[in-house]
Amino acid sequence: MRNIQLRMPNLKVLLLDGIDPAGIAIINRSNSIEPIVHDKISREKLLSIIGEADGIVVRSSTTVDRELMQKATRLKVIGRAGVGVDNVDIDAATEHGILVMNSPGGSTTTTAEHTIAMLFSLARNIPQAYIALKHRQWERNKFKGVELAGKTLGVIGLGRIGSEVARKCQAMGMKVVAFDPYINPDAHLSSGLELVHIDDVFEQADFITVHVPLTDATRNLINKDTIARMKDGVRLVNCARGGIIGERDLYDAVKSGKVAGAAFDVFEIEPNTESPLFELDNFIATPHLGASTVEAQRRVSEDICRQVSEYLLKNTVDGALNFPRLEAGAVERYQHFVDLAARLATFVAQICEGRMQTVSIRYSGEVCDVNLNYLTSVIVRSLLMPVLREGVNLVNAMHVAKQRGIRVQETRVPAPENFTNLIVIELKTDVESHRVSGTVFTDKLPRIVNIDGYPLEVVPRGNMIFFTNNDKPGVIGAIGTVLGKCSVNIAGMHLGREHEGGKALALLLVDNAVGKDVIEQFRQIPNILSAKIVHV
Ligand code: NAD
Repeated sequence: MRNIQLRMPNLKVLLLDGIDPAGIAIINRSNSIEPIVHDKISREKLLSIIGEADGIVVRSSTTVDRELMQKATRLKVIGRAGVGVDNVDIDAATEHGILVMNSPGGSTTTTAEHTIAMLFSLARNIPQAYIALKHRQWERNKFKGVELAGKTLGVIGLGRIGSEVARKCQAMGMKVVAFDPYINPDAHLSSGLELVHIDDVFEQADFITVHVPLTDATRNLINKDTIARMKDGVRLVNCARGGIIGERDLYDAVKSGKVAGAAFDVFEIEPNTESPLFELDNFIATPHLGASTVEAQRRVSEDICRQVSEYLLKNTVDGALNFPRLEAGAVERYQHFVDLAARLATFVAQICEGRMQTVSIRYSGEVCDVNLNYLTSVIVRSLLMPVLREGVNLVNAMHVAKQRGIRVQETRVPAPENFTNLIVIELKTDVESHRVSGTVFTDKLPRIVNIDGYPLEVVPRGNMIFFTNNDKPGVIGAIGTVLGKCSVNIAGMHLGREHEGGKALALLLVDNAVGKDVIEQFRQIPNILSAKIVHV
């Protein structure tokens, strides 16, 4: 007999802008996600169907803005096949708790190859010679070029693409000097590659290629002042983002001959057919083709569709732009700390009354190995969850806290303090404040080890009653009587006290959920100071 598996997709992902079929096949294979493909879709139609989508995958044509997100009541993730996310409003996505992902790795080789094509074209005047020939002109002398081998290439930005360009150009016999202030000089660089100051790049390079993101620091990075510091006859390439090489200053420098040639794949304004640079014979260009190969389009589509489906189906976050960065496998490896953080926060949120004002978190020992931004998001989400339910998630937790005027402070103490790992959360409201500390022993179970300065040891889970009292005889007996009368079975009791006869607190683990009436009876018991229901 054949085992027939019924396909019942309960999640929907919109795949727009002519996404490569290889990615659509990945979504299809999941069996739990229905792909809805529109290579071209009107804005009106998109607004009318976005409400059904759990995910959306776009390239650069579709604008995913605040208006769209307001209608996207189920949307959990936006995937951009490729790098640039200029068409996605990331702030609005964060506010709505929607994860934004891109897939930059898939276009690295392709863009590096395009850069090298530009370097060769610049060195050998290939586009100009071709145009002349198209005009039936055989001009051998006019287009005498230069070799790349033996020349110095300056690479600005030594990330994925920059380092691939550097490696390939070294193999072609170029000397490569690179500038990237965010790369540790001790990092393993390909042999012979020199990490230098940007001024050395300007002074030494015969060719300079930029591979940085467009930021406030990199906008106009190459301008008339920096060009003045370069060698006469330098050649420049921009296959990164328009605006990194200032177009107006470049125009003057090419015109004057200071810059012997320049090659752009990207422009300050795109599409662009009007740039004054097009008048210059020594300026060559392509219309943003850097990532445009069959292989890259397939790879970025596969990557993003895999990332989006893994997020929807397994909550695995890879390549997210509005989420604390975690290295591969970190969530699994540090799951016990994530669990501890969430339980401590859920606990403290329930024992604290009033409006939250400040959350102070101290991480110490082994916990500091985890990305603490991630753990803090887990804590803030867990604190807000009892109040906001699905209105808060890991993506928007910090934003929601800020919006509600809650200050989040984080400190780290890398050396262990009494425990090899410890998380301390202190929550202050307009009414009271509580401090809870927790650790994980070798059994990987989360334990509360201190509440408000009282040491105790308890695995926080299930139904609990937290109470404070004066340490006087009879209190515990009276509590047992109340619970017995209400048919509530005690599974465990953990006590902490200042000193004999002083203030004490206790955490009762109970087998069944208790109602408010039980807590009311607790409060009637002499010497009970406070009592609260907690569920973790
Ligand atoms: P990446 O993040 O891997 O690398 C960027 C590097 O720039 C990082 O190493 C970073 O440390 C460095 N950097 C940041 N600010 C810097 C500064 N002020 N000075 C020097 N270095 C700095 O990115 P990537 O995937 O290599 O992409 C590089 C660029 O190429 C990006 O702008 C990307 O958008 C662009 N890109 C263009 C195309 C295209 O179609 N033309 C395709 C893919 C990527």
